[in-house]
Amino acid sequence: MEFYSTRGEGPVSGARAIINGIAKDGGLYVPAEFPVITQEELEDMVGLEYPERAAYILNKYLTEFSYEELLSYTEKAYARFDGYPAPLTKVDEGTYIMELWHGPTFAFKDIALTLLPYLLNGSKEKEGEGKKTLILVATSGDTGKAALEGFKDVGNTEIIVLYPSEGVSDMQKLQMITTEGKNTHVIGIKGNFDDAQTAVKKIFASKEMKEKFAEKGYELSSANSINFGRLAPQIVYYFSAYLDLLAEGEIEPGENIDFIVPSGNFGNILAGYYAKRMGLPVKQLVVASNVNNVLTEFFDTGLYDTRRKFHKTMSPSMDILVSSNLERLVYEIMNRESDRVSGLMEELAKEGNYAVDEDTLYDAVPEFLGYYSTEEETKDVINNVYEEYGYLLDPHTAVAVSAYFKFMNDVYDDASAVILSTANPYKFPQSVLSAVSGTEERDAFKAVKKLAGFTGTEVPEDIANLKNKPVLHNLVVEKEDIAEAVLGAIKG
Ligand SMILES: *Cc1c(COP(=O)(O)O)cnc(C)c1O
Repeated sequence: MEFYSTRGEGPVSGARAIINGIAKDGGLYVPAEFPVITQEELEDMVGLEYPERAAYILNKYLTEFSYEELLSYTEKAYARFDGYPAPLTKVDEGTYIMELWHGPTFAFKDIALTLLPYLLNGSKEKEGEGKKTLILVATSGDTGKAALEGFKDVGNTEIIVLYPSEGVSDMQKLQMITTEGKNTHVIGIKGNFDDAQTAVKKIFASKEMKEKFAEKGYELSSANSINFGRLAPQIVYYFSAYLDLLAEGEIEPGENIDFIVPSGNFGNILAGYYAKRMGLPVKQLVVASNVNNVLTEFFDTGLYDTRRKFHKTMSPSMDILVSSNLERLVYEIMNRESDRVSGLMEELAKEGNYAVDEDTLYDAVPEFLGYYSTEEETKDVINNVYEEYGYLLDPHTAVAVSAYFKFMNDVYDDASAVILSTANPYKFPQSVLSAVSGTEERDAFKAVKKLAGFTGTEVPEDIANLKNKPVLHNLVVEKEDIAEAVLGAIKG
């Protein structure tokens, strides 16, 4: 399969797309076409294990790899999970929660980031790429730790993570700054996630920076969700959910289902759209946002407008105004005309907004619907779902459940619905504790104890143990000094 940039460049191989991360013209790599999985193939996949399902689907895109190569990667990656990587819980008739956080860092990003190092090293082999890799990551919280865990002590690789020093949860921050490994670097910045992401994009676009890294023997690559190697593994669990529902007799072959996805950079739900384009029977894709509701407005009106106040919320991994992966959807909405995409992205960079004609939007992607949840609503949902179903939601997943309720209220839909759960509640103990018990506790570890006491739920050992781990990364820099700090982190 060949890949093109959303802004025109290409074609390149899948392996090259993964190595480059982002195209030289600033665009995102997209497959030349959507490979199709037929209903027959789908039914044949029911009996496969998760790593086999993953290798099968990845192979449709990454055709330069053999199924066996991909399977060896997926088996190693998913062996790091505590049990099945994407288990479904039935919470009500026709309503399921898919927990994507049984990996090493308790967030859904592990599904892609445990696999990406294998895909990247495999891609370098395919392309005869001799240079060492420098992974540069901007994080709103969960990507950083998941990428650090994925790439820790991987040969010929250094990883630098930039995070907003005051914009992530205590647990997220501790998880990152206590990371061991000889090749890991974590830098706090005085700014928000968009500042971190903008800085990373600038470094990727800078010839001068690239030359400086090349002198040190490194080639830059990205582990952010703009990398196709991040997106592809996420397509798998949409299929897997469907296959599991088929296996359990909860749905009939060919029956349409809905997915509700807590969204930030738009990578997770975009993978659901790709799954649909590959033939998965998907009816509605519900984009759930917090009060940083730029995506809700886009799907309501066609206007994408970042000129608004940035809110810090209790779902920090969704505190994003520039959802990078939306560019891949805009490319489809624009009928794959890269000139029009480039024009819109230029407007976004210059004016902070762009608009797509409302009818065009609806005709092109009628499956998308957006809803957002206020902080108060999110808290109420955590509390109500705990009281009614005995199920403890993290704040990101609660935003999705809140969107699901609004969606059902708005357009009653009798299709089965899968709500994607993206984090373990103990990653955000203060907010969850406050929601279920009304107790305010500022100290994260005390909140963990109280939450466990109050709900009787299990605390992940690695979260409880964070308390005793030494801080290994304490550098915090001003926005203007990011490039210098990044260069300084890497020895020649
Ligand atoms: C990253 C993240 C999200 C948002 O996913 P996107 O792919 O960026 O839309 C939601 N919830 C959690 C817990 C996350 O870590």
